[in-house]
Amino acid sequence: MNQTPLRLLIHGASGRMGQALLRLAAEHTDTLNVVGAYTGRAPAQRVVDGIPHFAAKELHGAPPFDVAIDFSLPEGFDAILALCVERGAGLVSGTTGISQAQREALDAAAKAIPLVWASNFSLGVAVLDELVERAAQALAGWDCDIVESHHTRKLDAPSGTALTLGAAAGRGGATPQYASLRAGDIVGEHLVQFTGLGERIELVHRATNRDIFARGALFAARQLGQRAPGSYRVRDLLNG
Ligand code: NAD
Repeated sequence: MNQTPLRLLIHGASGRMGQALLRLAAEHTDTLNVVGAYTGRAPAQRVVDGIPHFAAKELHGAPPFDVAIDFSLPEGFDAILALCVERGAGLVSGTTGISQAQREALDAAAKAIPLVWASNFSLGVAVLDELVERAAQALAGWDCDIVESHHTRKLDAPSGTALTLGAAAGRGGATPQYASLRAGDIVGEHLVQFTGLGERIELVHRATNRDIFARGALFAARQLGQRAPGSYRVRDLLNG
């Protein structure tokens, strides 16, 4: 079946995530068409591997697109959100550190466009989130502990993902405790442990490569292309 490729904007294109997104999208040009790559500063080259590059301040003149994928910084977030609303396009954002006001703007935008914001775009963590909520519901009264490990350059603790998993445990009725380890070059590990009398369940996710976040974001973009306005979790998109 022939399908028209999904037209994507990549916002934050020169960053570690942006580069991974461009590299992985280039492997699927039959279904994904990157129509513009936006960077914080003016790009060194206007066209790279056939993809037009622009400065973020040129967003207002962006070519037509279906979904924007944003892995930038909180300073760039408002402009890409506003553009998606103005164009009626979907937004996939993994930008962390956004403010309460920016979260509220996301909620308001979800009335007009389909969007997903997530602190972790790994599909494995999306499944772990669901398992943690189910385990917490079934194991009333058990202790719940979340141990996260990351590389030594990571400043925030507990990680955003640990807090997201903690919220899932909380929805299931548990009260999680957190512990954080910073060591070497660990990409990211999350252990959610439920301990009862004489038994213990350990649910673990280990990330070994940052590409998992880019793949998850591209998956989310494909899914959003067909959705009604609303705010979706990666987990919602996995469940079809
Ligand atoms: P990076 O510093 O390598 O790249 C940042 C990118 O944003 C660059 O392209 C830069 O030019 C651009 N930028 C900076 N200021 C901008 C502005 N005002 N407007 C538009 N663009 C601007 O960072 P990274 O490691 O690629 O991470 C980017 C974001 O994604 C961070 O918030 C990071 O925490 C987050 N992240 C999220 C996940 C997830 O799964 N949700 C995974 C990894 C990283």
